[in-house]
Amino acid sequence: MTYRHVALVGLGLIASSISHAMRRAGMETRITGTAQSAASRETATRLGLCEVFETPAEAVTGADLVILCVPVGAMESVAKQVAPHLAPGATLTDVGSVKGGVVTAVAPYLPENVDFIPGHPIAGTEHSGPASGFASLFDNRWWLLTPLPDSRPEAVARLTKFVTRLGANVDLMEPDHHDLVLAVTSHIPHLIAYTMVGVADDLRRVTSTEVINYSAAGFRDFTRIAASDPTMWRDVFLSNREATLEILGRFTEELFALQRAIRTGDGDHLHRYFTRTRSIRRGIIEAGQDTPEPDFGRVGIKRDG
Ligand code: NAP
Repeated sequence: MTYRHVALVGLGLIASSISHAMRRAGMETRITGTAQSAASRETATRLGLCEVFETPAEAVTGADLVILCVPVGAMESVAKQVAPHLAPGATLTDVGSVKGGVVTAVAPYLPENVDFIPGHPIAGTEHSGPASGFASLFDNRWWLLTPLPDSRPEAVARLTKFVTRLGANVDLMEPDHHDLVLAVTSHIPHLIAYTMVGVADDLRRVTSTEVINYSAAGFRDFTRIAASDPTMWRDVFLSNREATLEILGRFTEELFALQRAIRTGDGDHLHRYFTRTRSIRRGIIEAGQDTPEPDFGRVGIKRDG
């Protein structure tokens, strides 16, 4: 059974893409929503994303599915605001990039007659705000759900069906396992991109415009990733501290090993390492999660999450 009324709390990239994807799927569901600033609420109204309300409490009243689409650090405050207004039997999910921290922040405030099923679409761009969404964002991307021990299976099945209609593939996972996997696939890569762009920015003071003029291949992609929303990414690292520190530790060990191979002229080590990593890229293409087209410098929409 599809939902009658979906409420979007937060109206940025993910929420606006959900609204577009729902419309594309022909859902006749009522959509309500709210954002923090009057400017975002006005933009959402102008774009016709949903019926826009001033407060989370008003937006969720009567909804049978509530989706929290705010930065991870805002989940607790929003959960407190919406909890007393959730309809009995409603499902509450979120789209936050970290799951353990969101469960801790949200679960204590929820009434027992609401199913809380945390979620995370592995889809995004470096853009944010209500005007940045588009209907195909979730197409063939994974949407991970991390049900809690007391989440009712029928509520999980219903949410799975909804998300599938938005174009995504669903997988179920434990929240802590999600956070470790995402630390590897998304969080630390973002940190590396932020660091590399920071280093290049320092360098630019020495070499004038060379970094910009000759930026190609990897560096250009780093700048795209490093343009991601600062609030969202600050919250990701503060909320997924344990897993990101664990993976960062392993990363620096590998980096030191490569540094040593360069210093000692150990070409075999470098070649073996780069051969192994190349095969991982092939695996991603075979799994349909990217295309084999030459990518360096490509203009177009790129996604990560
Ligand atoms: P976004 O475009 O920056 O939108 C965030 C929305 O949350 C905005 O409408 C903002 O309102 C609202 N908001 C912020 N703090 C709030 C508060 N305290 N109360 C009410 N509303 C508040 O962000 P997004 O990219 O859609 O990300 C939303 C969530 O999805 C985050 O948890 C993020 O981790 C997750 N996610 C993001 C991506 C990605 O690539 N972007 C991918 C997967 C998952 P204003 O506009 O008025 O500030």
